[in-house]
Amino acid sequence: MLHRSSFVLALLVASCAPRPPSSVAAIDPAAIARHVEILAADAYGGRAPGTPGEDQTVAYIVTAMDRAGLRPGNGASWFQEVPLVEVQPSVAAVLTVEGRGGAAALEWGEDIVIGNSRAVDGAHIDRSDMVFAGYGLTVAEAGWDDFAGLDLAGKTVVMLGGVPHALKEAATAASSAAKIAAAASRGAAAAIILLPSAVTDEQWDAQVAAARRRDLRLDGASDGPVIEARLRFEAGERLFAASGHDLATLTAAAGRTGFRPMALGSRASVRLDGLIRRFASKNVIGLLPGARRADEYVLFLAHWDHLGRCAPDGPDPICNGAVDNASGIGGLLELARAFAAGERPERSILFLATTAEESGLIGGQYFVDHPVVPLAQIAGGLGNDTIAAGTAADVVVLGQGLSPQMDSLIASAARAQKRRVVVDAAFDGFFMRSDHYPFARAGVPVLIATSIFAPGSKAATEAYFAQAYHKPADEFVPELSFDAAAADIDLAYRVGLRLANSRAWPAWKPGSEYAVARARER
Ligand SMILES: [Zn+2]
Repeated sequence: MLHRSSFVLALLVASCAPRPPSSVAAIDPAAIARHVEILAADAYGGRAPGTPGEDQTVAYIVTAMDRAGLRPGNGASWFQEVPLVEVQPSVAAVLTVEGRGGAAALEWGEDIVIGNSRAVDGAHIDRSDMVFAGYGLTVAEAGWDDFAGLDLAGKTVVMLGGVPHALKEAATAASSAAKIAAAASRGAAAAIILLPSAVTDEQWDAQVAAARRRDLRLDGASDGPVIEARLRFEAGERLFAASGHDLATLTAAAGRTGFRPMALGSRASVRLDGLIRRFASKNVIGLLPGARRADEYVLFLAHWDHLGRCAPDGPDPICNGAVDNASGIGGLLELARAFAAGERPERSILFLATTAEESGLIGGQYFVDHPVVPLAQIAGGLGNDTIAAGTAADVVVLGQGLSPQMDSLIASAARAQKRRVVVDAAFDGFFMRSDHYPFARAGVPVLIATSIFAPGSKAATEAYFAQAYHKPADEFVPELSFDAAAADIDLAYRVGLRLANSRAWPAWKPGSEYAVARARER
């Protein structure tokens, strides 16, 4: 499951945790547990893309899919190659500024964090002209344009973080990432965000720690500037002083209507020497051909990747990701086994194990951008992420209310299991945090139906998210219960079977944000 630093577990209504119904027998919790015990072992190194742990993980998944009776899902291949680039941060870099007021040297980690947005070997700027673009905002309704009349080609643009008071009501896209993208689209070679003075030491340390991590992204995808940086407020005062300007004066000007961006008259230089490595990672795709309408599909997915050696200096350096998401892969493989062992459904079933979910849903997005079967031929599906975190009998649907047909399929499957579907909008934010989301955005109704956010799982999930999530503590231990996970996979089986034996084409509700044009004339 994708990390959100601002994530706060919502408060749930307390309740006792009833056991999942014993009538659910199709999926064996112990079988899921066996997959997890293997995939979350230290030998798999935390399943980081581009490491030996990836080779072991995808080989394990292929073997299990093959044994279950699936066929390769991408023509003759089990794999879809996903081109990734790994960027090691240039932690020794120093950004220098020379201007009328003298010179300033801004050190990585102390004053500034600098990213190599385009993953260019030897990325650098050399005496690049600096400009100040206020808050870096363009708000047409308010007649506000911090880039008005500026030629940013090859330049280093400095922008203030946040939103000025004058724009508090009008501004919407005020994230640093959006500002950096706006500068890049105007040709800037480097974009520097000056963080507000309110940023605490703790927040700065967290920013530095995040920037120290190995960064994975889709190769060739970045349209950012060559260099992007976030600058501490105190260091910003030095940058402006070296440029011959007073930060407080310029900040005040930038907050007033009619502010015009300006050249600072100074020049910035920095060279990044971090290691860039390009490699192909793999989505794994298995197929169970349908008996009657093999060119129509039901999709199940789960991400196989996790964070690898996430704490290299700690006593336990490996984030094993037992729950996130060895449990989802274990569930996917048992789902494959159950479908292949039963009577062949009319439609085909596609089983997708994605890579690089933890780095921003990359594998799922790549499949959507390069589908191995037409997306319009996928009737719908379910994702499996972090499924062993809960203990509840009830089910919460991420995406509930967005597709009436999917809702009703899930509701009737839950009824057959004697489980309750609990509606809880508190977890709607999670809808964007797993690999089903790129499918949802492309108009394919893929949701998550899970016990982990049901009230009965409250104690277990709160403990998990506080103590183990994205930490070395997310390990396989014999006490880990897979009962609720197995019930969720059983529900996925029932939903999938019903959809695969139907002629239904679930859709997102007209007017909902995912109801994008999906060319399907039937
Ligand atoms: Zn995760």
